[in-house]
This record gives sequence, C-alpha cells and structure tokens, in this order.
Amino acid sequence: MGKKLIRGARVIDPACGRDEPCELLLEGGLIAAVGHDLPAEGAQIINAAGLVAAPGLVDMHTHMREPGFEDKETIATGTAAAARGGVTSILAMANTCPVIDRPERVADFYNRAMRSAKVRAYTVGAVSLGMQGKEITDVEDLLSAGAAALSDDGVPLMSAEIMREALIRMKPSGLPILSHSEDGDLVRAGVMNEGALSRKLGYKGRPAVAEELLLVRDGMLAADVGGYVHVCHVSTKGSVDYIRRMKAAGIHVTAETCPQYFTLTEEEIEKQGAMAKVNPPLRTRADVEAILEGLEDGTLDCIITDHAPHTVEEKARELPKAPSGMVGLETSLALSLTVLHHQLGWPLMKVLRAMSTAPAGILQLDAGSLRVGAPADIVLFDPEETWTVRPEAFASKGRNTPFAGWELKGRVRCTVVGGETVYDAEAAR
Ligand SMILES: [Zn+2]
Repeated sequence: MGKKLIRGARVIDPACGRDEPCELLLEGGLIAAVGHDLPAEGAQIINAAGLVAAPGLVDMHTHMREPGFEDKETIATGTAAAARGGVTSILAMANTCPVIDRPERVADFYNRAMRSAKVRAYTVGAVSLGMQGKEITDVEDLLSAGAAALSDDGVPLMSAEIMREALIRMKPSGLPILSHSEDGDLVRAGVMNEGALSRKLGYKGRPAVAEELLLVRDGMLAADVGGYVHVCHVSTKGSVDYIRRMKAAGIHVTAETCPQYFTLTEEEIEKQGAMAKVNPPLRTRADVEAILEGLEDGTLDCIITDHAPHTVEEKARELPKAPSGMVGLETSLALSLTVLHHQLGWPLMKVLRAMSTAPAGILQLDAGSLRVGAPADIVLFDPEETWTVRPEAFASKGRNTPFAGWELKGRVRCTVVGGETVYDAEAAR
C-alpha cells in the first residue's frame, strides 16, 4: 500500500469543519497527516490543483441485486458505479434472492464483496423472514454476522408488532431500523403520485398519506420503546413536517432523501414514462420545495441514491408493468452540487456533510472524516466542471436514469478507498 501525497486541493472535511487549501498524506491505507509542506519522500504525488478533496461519500441506500438479479447489477458493477460517483462506502439492501435474512447470507454477501467490491460494501439484514412481514428475523445474529442495519426496504413492513419488536431488539446496538415508509394497502398497484395528474392519465396513484402514515407509526413505536428509526427516501411535504415535529419532540428519528425528490416532479411520468417510475413516487412542486427546506434545516439528515438498477427490457414495459426505481450512484454528487451548491448557493461543506459525515454517523461507520488516523477514503472532484449525463457510459449495468442528457456542474476526478485509487477520470478516458 503505497504512500500518496494529495497536493493543491481545497480540503473540505465536514467532520471537523475544515475548509482550506492543504495537503493530505496517505499511508498504510489511512490518513497519516493533514497540513502544509508535508514530507513527500517516497510518496506518489497526486496533483489536485483546482479540485476539492473531501471524505468519500457514504451511500446508505443502494440495491446491488446480487445474489439473484445479476442481470440488473452485481456487487462488482454496482461498486464500480459507486467509485465513479465518488462513493466509497455503500449499504446494500436485503431484497435480493434469496433475501438476506439469515446470518449465513450476511456472511455470503461479505464473501462476495471481498472478491469483487471496488469500494467498501456493507449489507442490511432483513427485519422479517423472506421479507414476508410475518415473522421477525434473528436480529442479534444478523448484527453479529455484520449486518450494518436492518430493513425490509422494497416492501413496506406492515406489521407494527414486528417493527416494535425489532426496534426493541436493535436498541443495544444503537443502530436504526431503516423504514421504507409506505402503507402497503394504500399503495397497492399504484404507479405514480396520486393526484390530479394520476387521474388525468388514468393511473392508480400512491397517495402522500401512505408515506406519512407509516413513518408516523414508526416514529410513535420508536418513541414508545425508546428505539431508533431511520426513514428512507422521504418524498412528501407532510413527511418533512411530521419528521420535524418528531425530532422536536425528542423521538430518535433520522431521515434521508434522494436527488430525484429535490429535482423532479410527477410531471416526469408524463414525459418519460417508466423511466420516472420510482417508489415512493415523484411528487409535486410543493413537495420538492419542502424536501429542499427539510435538507436545509437538517430535518432530513442525508442524501442517498436508492440506486435501483433494472434491465432495459424491464424498463421498456408499459408503466403499470415496469419495475420501480432508478440508478443514482454516478449522478448523485453532481446533481446535488448542481442544484444545492450552484443553483441555491449552499456551501460545499453542507452538501458534503449530508452525503458523507451524516450517514456515516447514523451507521456508526469509520467514514465521513479526514482526520488523521481515519481510513483514507477520499473523493477528489472539480466543482466547476460541466458534463452531460450519458447512461451508456455508466459503469452500472442499469441505464434507468431520468437524468439522461442533463448537463450537470461538478464532476468526480478521482476516488480513493483505503489509500488505493479505485477510480481515475484520466485513466478512464
Ligand atoms: Zn425503499
């Protein structure tokens, strides 16, 4: 593991509030020094003039699809997409085939990741066996095997009884249950946001209240037992309002949203059909505004992708039959920089915190920081470079993005994991 000296970068570390031009010395897979005029003997020099150096991003909501759906994605291709997006740690959801609901399947994931992952890959364990919502998994054994959190994401967990027990049994770990908050009865067969547009187009809708109902239930359960719930992919104004109130009341709740929920509205369904189909669905302009407010005031803690690759054939189906989800690992930083930093003027530090330090804290990962002794997981990006999203160039197997053709500002130049370069834009040219 060679020594590296990153020179000339603007170093931004949300974990300690540092934002200044300085050098980073990497040695033994760790950050050995941060400062000026660091010793360069024997080190490979990385010239990062004009670039920002920040902690590698932590994406706590992805679908790697392996095992079982390797035609959509594999750990190898999904983590290659992560590397291209500046993401150095991913959390993979448990809705694979088989479902990751037993300790040996957690172990199997880590064996696969050891062989093929380009970035640090963690897995979730399921809350219910087979994600059937009928019987709770062995929470303690899943955690002992290395599950980084528990979730039935992909399927709403309708059993309040199982959610309650899982919240209780997670308490000693301090880790959250990640809740895909949509009431399963209310969203059944719904393909888009319920409202005037769904009625006009003649599609069954997924109402905003379905999302709000389940997250309020989970917040109440967490309050009742002193547990910790993390709300996945928040998409509605009402959800932001309820989460804000729950936090004010001292309930242990954190929440995430995705770039699609602060950049797009339900009208994309009319323009792009299944390419814009995702759960929860794209909402209205008022919801987008509320998501931005929630991120701004910290009601929403982090930005993740819900990277959900599907095959071209699947996404070409008519809207009701096409699967939900969009890829995001290769566009999330650029979309966030374009909208939050360049258009809305947020400091880079604030954007980067929501994409690295905050999710690392939620999962208790040794990530999201550039302090001396931390793992040398770093993203180097040019905040000013513009580029056009071309899905055919993705490392992901998934081409299902609603952002094809978008011109974005801010581009990853280099990604380092444990001191090793896992993506280099120059080399990839
Ligand atoms: Zn979900």
